[in-house]
Amino acid sequence: MDCIFCKIVDGSIPSDIVYQDDHVLAFRDLNPHAPHHILIIPRTHVATLNDFTESDAPLIGHLSLAAAKIAKQLQVDEQGYRIVTNCNAGAGQTVFHVHMHFLAGRSLSWPPG
Ligand code: AMP
Repeated sequence: MDCIFCKIVDGSIPSDIVYQDDHVLAFRDLNPHAPHHILIIPRTHVATLNDFTESDAPLIGHLSLAAAKIAKQLQVDEQGYRIVTNCNAGAGQTVFHVHMHFLAGRSLSWPPG
């Protein structure tokens, strides 16, 4: 499978890793939209949010727990941060290995574009 994020997981494409555990990997986005723009991904390939199944519920929990750990690590947990998952092209998804965008370090307006 030709998936750029699977290649980041297996180390064949370099990345700036900020957090990893048995279930997830988190690395800095190449094209950051905030001082801290990190992508949190499952180590296993899942294309979109639509492709998670009931058995993935613990993995989905791990992704959120990783976000909170990263926020603490970067000391933005109190100031605030945003988690975004784009699902499918109409929402802006360009890499079809499910990921959470973690955005922090600047004021974030709402609603998003
Ligand atoms: P999305 O558009 O929601 O699918 O987000 C994909 C994100 O992956 C974009 O913000 C890209 O800048 C980022 N991206 C693509 N390739 C890489 C890479 N090799 N390393 C880090 N970030 C990447």
